Amino acid sequence: MKLINLLTAGLTLAAVSSTSLAQESEAKSEKSSERPNILFIFSDDHALDAIGVYSDRFKGIVDTPHLDSIAKQGAVFKNSFCANSICGPSRACILTGKHSHINGFRQNGDKFNGNQWTFPQALQKEGYQTAVIGKWHLHTLPVGFDYWQVLPGQGNYYNPDFRTMPEGKRERIKGYCTDIITDLSLKWLEKRDKTKPFMLMCQHKAPHRNWAPAPRHLNLLDGVKVPEPATLFDTYEGRSAWLKKHEMGLAKHFHWQHDMKFLSRSPFKGFADSVGNGEIARMDDKQRKAWDKAYEIENAQFVVDMKNKKLSEKQITSWKYQRYIKDYLSTIKAVDENVGRVLKFLKENDLEKNTIVIYSSDQGFYLGEHGWYDKRWMFEQSFKMPFLIKWPGVIKPNTKSETLIQNIDYAPTFLEIAGIKVPKEIQGMSMVPMFKNDCKPTANWRDDLYYAYWEGHRSIHAVPRHDGVRTDRYKIFFIPETQEWQLFDLVKDPQELKSVHDNSDYSKILEDMKKRYTANRQKFGSNHGKRK
Ligand code: CA
Repeated sequence: MKLINLLTAGLTLAAVSSTSLAQESEAKSEKSSERPNILFIFSDDHALDAIGVYSDRFKGIVDTPHLDSIAKQGAVFKNSFCANSICGPSRACILTGKHSHINGFRQNGDKFNGNQWTFPQALQKEGYQTAVIGKWHLHTLPVGFDYWQVLPGQGNYYNPDFRTMPEGKRERIKGYCTDIITDLSLKWLEKRDKTKPFMLMCQHKAPHRNWAPAPRHLNLLDGVKVPEPATLFDTYEGRSAWLKKHEMGLAKHFHWQHDMKFLSRSPFKGFADSVGNGEIARMDDKQRKAWDKAYEIENAQFVVDMKNKKLSEKQITSWKYQRYIKDYLSTIKAVDENVGRVLKFLKENDLEKNTIVIYSSDQGFYLGEHGWYDKRWMFEQSFKMPFLIKWPGVIKPNTKSETLIQNIDYAPTFLEIAGIKVPKEIQGMSMVPMFKNDCKPTANWRDDLYYAYWEGHRSIHAVPRHDGVRTDRYKIFFIPETQEWQLFDLVKDPQELKSVHDNSDYSKILEDMKKRYTANRQKFGSNHGKRK
């Protein structure tokens, strides 16, 4: 009797456990079908000022309705920052959720160790279908993706080559880079395994130097005069002498062929002209014809004016600024159009509700502020990066957030979205609780963030190594090479024209910011150049 009872009990237990297993697996499959898709659209060097929802600076010149629509249906983050303002390092921070000195990719030219922990690997392991298409720039092949097709190095705008799976063989695709990256992304979305949630990184080359617009946008800004920034002729007083030693100015370092778009060597002295325009050689006849037609009249007039000595130094810089900003904005026109294509695809394929869309860029960029193009410095224009997000049902439309966020936060955020536990060693913070709090800081949110630029002044553009901390109002950074502090009051001096580190009115602030600097370095284990 006892034996029968035991057997019955055993059978019942087996029945119960098999039922609960079935329920569990049902719950799991329900969970996986509910897990949102992540569409992470990313560009290269996109300054906040060149996105309508951030700034009116180029309103009516080049608008960005599709990018703006992401923020209108979700949120725009006005205080979004990178951890190291340069292409490869910013990407490595995003993939790992860690600062550069931890993930090992401190400067361009380093090689990314793809076998370390990255969020795409974690998502893939937990059942997400993962893909990266477009610019990669980490000098090793992508790891953690079901599909990848990436530009070699910087890549090209015209008829670009792509590295393809599995061993990275090069293949040239005819057309314009921003359009092609979108075409490939949509093709992958169509063909993907629809039983799994997806995480797609659609990564544009644009608007990276040397700003080659699509054939259809070559005449977009003909006859337009784009307003100049107030600091185009900055004389760099009141800040570290390193600013005067820069090699990223429109006045002296903007190349005659590469940047100014002349077709042969400069007949005049005083122009940088050691780099040709690599895009030209890649063009087919039709593309080349459209290109020549777009630039030849203005270029010919410039040569005549130069020969007649009609242009002052300032007027020459102003001419370069117009050439620069029009090309830059024209490449963004194609980014915006293509973001529109992807959003349309989501809508038409019933993916809108369950797909989180993020638009960001690896850092900001100088659009003539301080007389510069390029990035690297911890000043606002290059320290900031855009962050637009829509998450239907979670983030309310038209949300404007001032919360301090950083690119090391993306990886833990993606994990939490996917229901994956965030490993302890991740240095960023998941933004999910903050998203659910109207995008306002939650109780344990940071009130300052840490930045470190590693490449150093011997590298291109001559920006010295520096690391620092920013709060909602103040910014401090230290330049180890010359043992200098710089301190800025962003409310009183939003253009960062005067360092107040030696102003006695700020001695208490300086002390507090130095404490924050030390605390952040300890927190993140930073070994960036020290005080002697
Ligand atoms: Ca970049």
